[in-house]
Amino acid sequence: MTVLVIAEHDHATLKPATLNTVTAGIACQSGDVHVLVAGANAAEAGKAASQVAGVAKVIVADSPSLAENLAENVAAQVLAIAKNYSHILFPATANGKNVAPRVAAKLDVAQISDITKVDSADTFERPIYAGNAIATVQSADPIKVITVRTTGFDAAAATGGSAAVENAEGVADSGKSSFVGREVTKSDRPELTAAKIIVSGGRALGSAEKFNEVMTPLADKLGAALGASRAAVDAGYAPNDWQVGQTGKIVAPQLYIAAGISGAIQHLAGMKDSKVIVAINKDEEAPIFSVADYGLVADLFTAVPELVKAL
Ligand SMILES: Cc1cc2nc3c(=O)[nH]c(=O)nc-3n(C[C@H](O)[C@H](O)[C@H](O)COP(=O)(O)OP(=O)(O)OC[C@H]3O[C@@H](n4cnc5c(N)ncnc54)[C@H](O)[C@@H]3O)c2cc1C
Repeated sequence: MTVLVIAEHDHATLKPATLNTVTAGIACQSGDVHVLVAGANAAEAGKAASQVAGVAKVIVADSPSLAENLAENVAAQVLAIAKNYSHILFPATANGKNVAPRVAAKLDVAQISDITKVDSADTFERPIYAGNAIATVQSADPIKVITVRTTGFDAAAATGGSAAVENAEGVADSGKSSFVGREVTKSDRPELTAAKIIVSGGRALGSAEKFNEVMTPLADKLGAALGASRAAVDAGYAPNDWQVGQTGKIVAPQLYIAAGISGAIQHLAGMKDSKVIVAINKDEEAPIFSVADYGLVADLFTAVPELVKAL
């Protein structure tokens, strides 16, 4: 049978999460990998998908009903072709997690969530208990509906492929929801989940002003995205969408610098797969040091500005 990857895209370009999901699709070893681009005027995104290495076919479903990525309509589009596939993979992003359960429920199968490894075509690994244990899950369902933790899989090469592109009829609007508006945060910084370097601050920063004064220059120097612990977000020192962790974003950059973050398991669940972890904390017993490659026991209000000066 064949594997279907649901592309994450903005109608013109593919989002990087799609590339990691393609790698997971190939790992399922169940046959060819197809990519569904469900959008409006999405031919460019379809073309981009056709160039991804390892993709055999791209299906572009174009319809005004798919312009705003409404989960009900995207799910209906996936269901229209689902029966042709043994595996349907979504990136475990906000979008993917919005659509996948609808597809699984309609197909009457159990969703397999947040996989980090494919052991075989029916057996997958996924973190549980905030990443403290790995569950090996075997599925007997005829169609496996899966969300993929993108940090668990390398990105497939964005070029080098030459998949056929097929057009499919777009579904009609379900009428179950309608698009009202969207407020998008604008930032010159890299997006948190795609950033190569992340500079993260914790409760120790003490205020939004201090967070900005101390952490922003370091992020600027390194061309990094800014992240934060939940305590810092809850206290209003940093915006919600900067939260890293179990209930925030899962990241795995090349370099993660944590300043004034204790390293609670819920925070570690979101960043411990980073390639190099640097921790700055004045408490040498802080749990963050257990995952850090480089640890600095110091007052961040002195250490971070010194680091900025030295860079
Ligand atoms: C269900 C659930 C989900 C959660 N999800 C998340 C999540 O997604 N992300 C997340 O981050 N948390 C999450 N949490 C919260 C988590 O348990 C911690 O409370 C939180 O991560 C603590 O944030 P912190 O490290 O900034 O603060 P604290 O634990 O208060 O740590 C502050 C640290 O700063 C150090 N420090 C203080 N002053 C200085 C200084 N001047 N210089 C250097 N170091 C200093 C201290 O030694 C301490 O280690 C969750 C909790 C629950 C129950």
